[in-house]
Amino acid sequence: MEHRLIVVSGPSGVGKGTIVKTLVKRRADVVESVSCTTRLPREGEVHGREYYFLTKEEFSRRISEDDFLEYDEHFGNFYGTPKSFVREALKEKSVVLEIDVVGALNAKKAFPESVLVMIAPPSVEELKRRLSGRGSETAEEIENRLSRLDYELSQRDKYDYVIVNDDLEEAIQDLSDIVDGRYSQK
Ligand code: ADP
Ligand code: 5GP
Repeated sequence: MEHRLIVVSGPSGVGKGTIVKTLVKRRADVVESVSCTTRLPREGEVHGREYYFLTKEEFSRRISEDDFLEYDEHFGNFYGTPKSFVREALKEKSVVLEIDVVGALNAKKAFPESVLVMIAPPSVEELKRRLSGRGSETAEEIENRLSRLDYELSQRDKYDYVIVNDDLEEAIQDLSDIVDGRYSQK
């Protein structure tokens, strides 16, 4: 079967990580792309698993070597998708990239055959609950992330598919169907 590059975005706390990680665990033919970042690891994050944690100098060097499919700055840190990882992985499997809206639109420009998927929250209140429930950001960081919400959701028309993450199992199945090219938007 043809391998697809699936680009998943949506507001912080909407459940992207949970959906993508569960799908990748369940399907041997799907892998998640590991991005590079200059931010510090959160507790439990492992270099090469959640991200490749780079210094600003290393990140700049890789920009100059044209090593990123796309990259951007968020909250004072750089994040980028390594071209080499995606190219190699696509030979064997479908690849899921979890990136922000601007990064997703850039990735689509670089890889027009990629499929853009937005994960949307059932409501703003529920999104706030999930973001504070996760407990990994300070109140200020949460506000910072919520401030981008309107912009992010306003870009949904540029996406190939929108999945509302209300019931987690349904959302995982929807993404799995998109990987197989047999999802019909409700
Ligand atoms: P993101 O990767 O989009 O920032 P996470 O995957 O970290 O979001 O999810 C944020 C929080 O919301 C986590 O605590 C997660 O367990 C919870 N969550 C994810 N999906 C659902 C869902 N469908 N219903 C309820 N809680 C959810
Ligand atoms: P976090 O610090 O919560 O892991 O991620 C912060 C933001 O960076 C999220 O919006 C996430 O989607 C985005 N991000 C993660 N990896 C990449 C990447 O490779 N490229 C871009 N452009 N954004 C990324």
